[in-house]
Amino acid sequence: MNLILIAPPAAGKGTMASRLHDELGLVCISAGELLRGVDPNTPLGKQIRDIQSRRELVSDDITNALMKERLMKDDIKNGFVLDGYPRHMPQVDAVNKMCEELNLHIDYAVLLNVSYDLALKRTLGRQICSVCKETHNVLTGVNAPKVEGKCNKCGGDLTTRNDDNEETFKAGFAAYEKNCAPVIEYYRNKGMLVELDASKDPDYTFNQFKELIGSKND
Ligand SMILES: [Zn+2]
Repeated sequence: MNLILIAPPAAGKGTMASRLHDELGLVCISAGELLRGVDPNTPLGKQIRDIQSRRELVSDDITNALMKERLMKDDIKNGFVLDGYPRHMPQVDAVNKMCEELNLHIDYAVLLNVSYDLALKRTLGRQICSVCKETHNVLTGVNAPKVEGKCNKCGGDLTTRNDDNEETFKAGFAAYEKNCAPVIEYYRNKGMLVELDASKDPDYTFNQFKELIGSKND
C-alpha cells in the first residue's frame, strides 16, 4: 500500500507515520528529511542549506528530483508513505508523472483533521522533558505536568521549543490551508481521500484508519 499523508501542524503526522511503519511496514519518506539528508559538502547540499537558512522554501525542481531518486530505491516495494509531499498542486503533478515513469501507484491520500484551536493549544501548551523527552501539555491537559515545570515520568525540568509561538504557528497553519486545500480537493475528487479525526489520541486516529481502509478493501 502506498500512501500520501496530509496534515496541518500539530495533527500528529509524525506519530501516524511511525505507526504506519511499525504496524504495516510502510517506509516513511519525509520531504524534510530528504532535504536535510543531502551532504552539506556538495554543491546541492550547500544550496539547500542557504535557502533554508533564509527560511525560504526549497524549489520544487530540487524536491521533486530528490523524491524521484528516493522512489527508485528497492526498499519501497512493500509500500511507502509520503510525508510533507506533495504539499501543493505543482508537486501533485510531479508525483503523478513520477509514478507513471516508475510504474508506481498511490492508493490513498490520508488527511488528518484537527481544528485550528486544538492544533494551536497542542503547539503552545507543549512542554518537553529536558531529560527523558516525554511530552506534556499544559493547555490540552494531555499528560499535564502534576508539578509545574517538572516531568511526570522522571521529575526532570520541562522546556518549551523556541519556535512554538502563536505567530509562527499562525503562518504555518495559513500556508498549509492555502497550499493543501486544492490538493485535498484533488484527491477527494479522485475518490482517494481518507479523512481521519485526529483530535483525540494516536490510537484513536490509527484505528479509524484501519477500519476505513479495511472497509474500502472488502
Ligand atoms: Zn522526564
